[in-house]
Parts: sequence; structure tokens; C-alpha cells
Amino acid sequence: MSTPVVYMDNNATTKVAPEVLAEMMPYFSELYGNPSSMHTFGGQVGKKLANARQQIASLIGASTDELLFTSCGTESDSTAILSALQSFPERRHIVTTRVEHPAVKNLCEHLDKLTGHKHRVTQLPVDREGRLDLKQYEESLAEDTAIVSVMWANNETGVLFPVEEMARIAKSRGILFHTDAVQAVGKVPIDLSGSAIDFLSISGHKLHAPKGIGVLYVRRGTPFVPFLIGGHQEKGRRGGTENVAAIIALGKACELAASRMEEENTRVKALRDKLENGLLTAIPHAMLNGHKEERLPNTTNISFEYVEGEAILLHLDQFGICASSGSACTSGSLEPSHVLRAMGVPFTAAHGSVRLSLSVYNTEAEADYVLEKLPPIIEKLRAMSPFWQSAHKGSVGGASCKCQCS
Ligand SMILES: *Cc1c(COP(=O)(O)O)cnc(C)c1O
Repeated sequence: MSTPVVYMDNNATTKVAPEVLAEMMPYFSELYGNPSSMHTFGGQVGKKLANARQQIASLIGASTDELLFTSCGTESDSTAILSALQSFPERRHIVTTRVEHPAVKNLCEHLDKLTGHKHRVTQLPVDREGRLDLKQYEESLAEDTAIVSVMWANNETGVLFPVEEMARIAKSRGILFHTDAVQAVGKVPIDLSGSAIDFLSISGHKLHAPKGIGVLYVRRGTPFVPFLIGGHQEKGRRGGTENVAAIIALGKACELAASRMEEENTRVKALRDKLENGLLTAIPHAMLNGHKEERLPNTTNISFEYVEGEAILLHLDQFGICASSGSACTSGSLEPSHVLRAMGVPFTAAHGSVRLSLSVYNTEAEADYVLEKLPPIIEKLRAMSPFWQSAHKGSVGGASCKCQCS
């Protein structure tokens, strides 16, 4: 091992907590029974699964019979939206936003094509700080709206949407409401008891459980049509033998998250703010993307104008710092992230965006390290950037909007 890793990409995935790993390990080896079996050997696994279900339900104020296990956050999102469309086949309209995760955005766009444009999709716009207009939302709801799907917290900017209020509005119009809460669970308090939310998606690997486990909350009384049809598992709402070890891990991760919520919103938030303020102060022509207050405690998304986000990431990587960018040069597209575009972030800024997303495992020393390494990287890249030079020195004329990362 050479450079130690400074991991600040927790909105992409998180480390499995050691306590979580310890909890799940026996279910790969000595306790490998099938929870559906009649014998005691399998039955003890079933008891442990029931316990995990309780731990998850507690974190979000749900009842255990309102949860079903899926393979990931993406499956939870698909299950909710497809269920609503099948429950109300005469309703052809979906309301969502322009800044959803691809798990919702691409599904809605795909449906539109798949059904020969039988479904209409309204993608609500956001303002410069990434917020929705509730009046515009109300006006978008139609007689034939089957479901509203709006994320609780944005994965790129951390911006929070008022989903509880939006769900109440949908309910008053007889419309089902789904929220992709993958980034919110464990970071902000969620209490579904008495809420009007019908469906809520969770993904294990965003809260220190392993990849490949998800949960869909389905409010009691909400009409439901399964996505995976097969065995009687999950009371017939999702076929397939349970991913036992991962479910047990997620239960433990939810219990841990509940006990760490306070730290997330105090120490982690303060660390994020220190990092953010330090970078915005040290680096000229840098700006925050997303509303400063209505935001997850762990996320900051900053644009450094006139540099390429991917170039910044490569330089950070040499120091062992893991972050993400909102530009997508490697995908062969010159388009910056759909989220930043929807927010109207100028081209020269959207291309130079970097997301740092923290967790309880980040330390003050790590924040200091990033504050030491990042400003000189930006300075160096700008010195080489024709955009920067034409904007600030006026010498290199004719710099067209070409991606510089290849
Ligand atoms: C990561 C993520 C997903 C997808 O979850 P997977 O378990 O990776 O399928 C969905 N929505 C949001 C907001 C996410 O951040």
C-alpha cells in the first residue's frame, strides 16, 4: 500500500461498517439455512430476518409488514413506479423531476418510449439552487396522474425536497406518491408513521451495508403489484430466496445509523462546512451548487470555473483522494450532469464541478489534507486552461467549447 485513501465519495457507495460485517458473516458459513424451511436450522435464520426487518422499520417509523426486500435501490424504484402504473392502468401520467437519479429518470423516459408514448411524463424543473416550485408541482397533477416520484435528497448536490408536504398534496388528489430516499435514509430523520408517502426506496450500500440489497416501503393499504413474481417470499410481494446475510447486514446498518444520526448532523456536517468554506475562500471563481441550508449534512458540490472536473479528479486521485465530478467526459459525452444543467449552472462551471461526500469515518485530518492539496491543483489546471486564459488574460482568442480531458 502506498498513498492512504481519503474516501470522500460516500454518495457513490460506502464502506461496510465493521460491526455490520461481523453480524452478517455467520450467515455465509455455519448458519446457511433457508428461512422458508420447516426445520429448526432454517427457522433460526427466519428469526434473525424478522429482527433485521424490525431494525429497518424502526429507523424510518414504519411497520415491519410495510417493508419488502429487493436487490438494490434501482429495483425498489422500478417496483414502486411499475406497480402504480399496473394498479391504475387507465392513468397514463407520471410526475417526477428533472434531477432524479437515473434509476427513476431513465425508467420514466424508457416507459414513455416503450408504450408508444401512451404515458406522459412531467419532469418538474428546479431553480438555480436546485429547489422545486410547489405551486408548479400542484398545477402539474392531472386527472390521470398515476404516481408522483420525487427523491428525498439529491445524490449530486444533497438538496432536500419537501416530500412529506408533496405527498400530502398528492394524497388529497388521490394520487400515489413514491420517494427515492436512498441518500436520505440514515442522514436525516425519517418518520413514516402518519406520513402520506406510499412508497419509499432504500439501498444498503449507501448506508454502510453491502451492495446488492434494497428495501421498498409500501404503506399499508397502498395497492401493490409485484415486480418479481415467483415464490411466496415477502408475502408474495417479491419472489426469490432472501439475500439473508445482506438483509441481516442492512438491519444492523440501520441500527447503527440511528445511533449515529446525531454525529452525522453535528461533527460530519461541521467537517463538510469546514471543507466547503475553506475551498470557497482559498479558490477564486469557485461556487457552491445547491441550496446552502436545505441540504444533506454530508454533501458539498463545488464548481471551479474554467477547469475540467475529470482533470481535477485525476489529480486528486494521485493523492489518494476519492471524489466525484458532475462532468462526463469519459462517457464520450460533452454534456455535464443533468442535475447541474437543470439548475442552470453555466457551462464553464458545470464542467468543473466536484462532489465531496463525507461519512462518519472521515476525520479532521482528512479535511485538512484535502484543503492542502486541492487549491494548488486548481491553480495548476487553470494555468494550462485556454478557457481561463481567454477569460482572465484575454490573450488566447477563439477558445471554443471543446472538452479538454482527452
Ligand atoms: C445510489 C442511488 C440509487 C441506486 O441504488 P442501487 O442500490 O445502486 O441500485 C438510487 N437513487 C439514488 C438517489 C442513489 O443515490
